[in-house]
Amino acid sequence: MADLPPGGSAGGILHVDLSAIVANWRLLCARHPMGPVAGVVKGDAYGLGAIPVCRALYAAGCRHFFVAVLEEALAIRDSVPDAMLSVLGGLIPGTEATYIAHRIVPVLGSLAEIAAWTAAGPSIPAILHIDTGMARLGVDAGELKVLHDNPDLLAGIDLRYIATHLVSAEAAHDPLNHDQRHRFEAACKSLPAAPRSLANSSGIFLGEAFGSDLARPGAALYGINPTPGQPNPMRPVVRLMGRVLAVRDIPTGASVGYNATWAAARPTRIATVGVGYADGWHRRLSGRCNAFFDGAPVPLVGRVSMDLTTFDITDHPAIAPGAWLELLGPHQSADDIALAAGTNGYEVLTSLALRLPRVYEGA
Ligand SMILES: *Cc1c(COP(=O)(O)O)cnc(C)c1O
Repeated sequence: MADLPPGGSAGGILHVDLSAIVANWRLLCARHPMGPVAGVVKGDAYGLGAIPVCRALYAAGCRHFFVAVLEEALAIRDSVPDAMLSVLGGLIPGTEATYIAHRIVPVLGSLAEIAAWTAAGPSIPAILHIDTGMARLGVDAGELKVLHDNPDLLAGIDLRYIATHLVSAEAAHDPLNHDQRHRFEAACKSLPAAPRSLANSSGIFLGEAFGSDLARPGAALYGINPTPGQPNPMRPVVRLMGRVLAVRDIPTGASVGYNATWAAARPTRIATVGVGYADGWHRRLSGRCNAFFDGAPVPLVGRVSMDLTTFDITDHPAIAPGAWLELLGPHQSADDIALAAGTNGYEVLTSLALRLPRVYEGA
């Protein structure tokens, strides 16, 4: 490593603006005055690096964090020393002692998990997850009735929150949102009194009725638009830059890349960039998007391959080997790329591979 030039030799660099993540968290706090706003940092903080993201949010005052699995919680425990750190994925048998030793709070989603947690010790903190329509995790209607009829079942637990998760929060007019809210209210009323946690990123933008004692946004912290179809209220967080490794001129009719899916309709200059699908730059983007150079679009041509992507730079004479093209950033969001790749911004960010060096700015 010591022999490499400054910045190394990577074909792509991911810039993560921690101060933009903090600004987004503050904006979400302002939109959710009913209770504190957690940081959802599962999936390595949606691919951006859980430890630096957690440190920045913690320094800004965030005191509630959610991950998906216990190992993710253990990895960030020291970065958020006295914050509530909770695992969404449910209690796996045999992990109770690890939760307790590291003061990690499980999200319990079944009678079996409630029984296991009760047996693990008296009055240890947990969150209870109610399934109001997602049908993945959480106590279902039958189990809810058992809990209502047998209040003792929860008596041995320090119930920090009762939580549910919205199915279609980003679709503001979907009647499911209010259906779930009503089911959640009814469920909470049938259980011992405890603070409630409802909204994800988009839920915060559904209005006051979706406010609760703890909001749980992830995507919006990282700049994904929580209000699709409307202007994005969040600040952009990521910039993925791809290095131009080579430039060549090809004649009319010559093809580029695997399977010759694209051929030059004019004498063409091609730039080869050192980012490919092994970096999380999806193969589905082949022929479907641009990069940006000095703010101007540069068309992607041919197949995206594992480590390389080709662009038609005929109209951009300033691009030479060593130049950097913007693949994600102010001119092209993760949501834009998601549309081109047939997925969502969440998958675009969580796909970004660890091969890309991450450079943290701000905060
Ligand atoms: C992922 C997740 C969130 C965060 O959702 P975003 O849409 O990213 O804000 C909140 N709650 C639960 C249960 C989740 O699984």
